[in-house]
Amino acid sequence: NANRKFHPDDSVIDIGALKLGGERFHVISGPCSVESEEQILEVAKRVKAAGATMLRGGAFKPRTSPYAFQGLKAEGIEYLLEAKKITGMPIVTEIMSIAHLDLFEDVDVIQVGARNMQNFELLKELGKSKKPILLKRGLANTLEELLMSAEYIMAGGNPNVILCERGIRTFETFTRNTLDISAVPILKKKSHLPVVVDPSHATGITWLVEPLSKAAVVCGADGLIIEVHNNPAKALSDGPQSLTPDQFDAIMQPLTQLVGYTG
Ligand code: PEP
Ligand code: MN
Repeated sequence: NANRKFHPDDSVIDIGALKLGGERFHVISGPCSVESEEQILEVAKRVKAAGATMLRGGAFKPRTSPYAFQGLKAEGIEYLLEAKKITGMPIVTEIMSIAHLDLFEDVDVIQVGARNMQNFELLKELGKSKKPILLKRGLANTLEELLMSAEYIMAGGNPNVILCERGIRTFETFTRNTLDISAVPILKKKSHLPVVVDPSHATGITWLVEPLSKAAVVCGADGLIIEVHNNPAKALSDGPQSLTPDQFDAIMQPLTQLVGYTG
């Protein structure tokens, strides 16, 4: 199970040739949505050059409005696999329904989004897989509930769970969500699982990504997941929180210095 009491050592999760957790720090980066083959390839090459070690990109998108872009679906996963082949980076992408699981066969890390954190039937099915699962905290869920959702996956036989703090709903409206930075040391104390912070969805604002990434590192996070888009002004989702490749490159230098170790 996820409880630190029974597993004093940090869990280290194998992701392709990479290891996450323990002394390994990773930055997962890429666009909110995969929009085209050219877009994901360009972003993948740029974030890799800047020091990202894994590529993210949504193919199935959980949008608030049914009229908003819903993702390229199977085609999006194909483009991610193409980017993986070319750059060698493991890929992270969100699953919305267990009916799509076959499409995720060559995906390295399956993301369970905030909106599905308590989709218990989905969690149980992912527990039957051995694939690493990036489990995002729900918009209005406690840390105890997040840990219980991790238990659903682990109880089924899949120990490869990565916890993700991505901000929660509060009364504050300046930011899209409120990054609960205390989640990092609390989750690390309660659990042996790796903890990743998503400063992009936590804030919704590009200029807040750097300071909150630094806060996450100082608080002991095992990694970051940061949205980067080749043309944020034209992004089909989450443009206002997406860094340009140049902005991403600029924040990676102070961040890697602060971390002191990567990959
Ligand atoms: C995303 O990663 O693009 C996403 C939809 O995240 P969340 O589930 O945290 O809102
Ligand atoms: Mn997004």
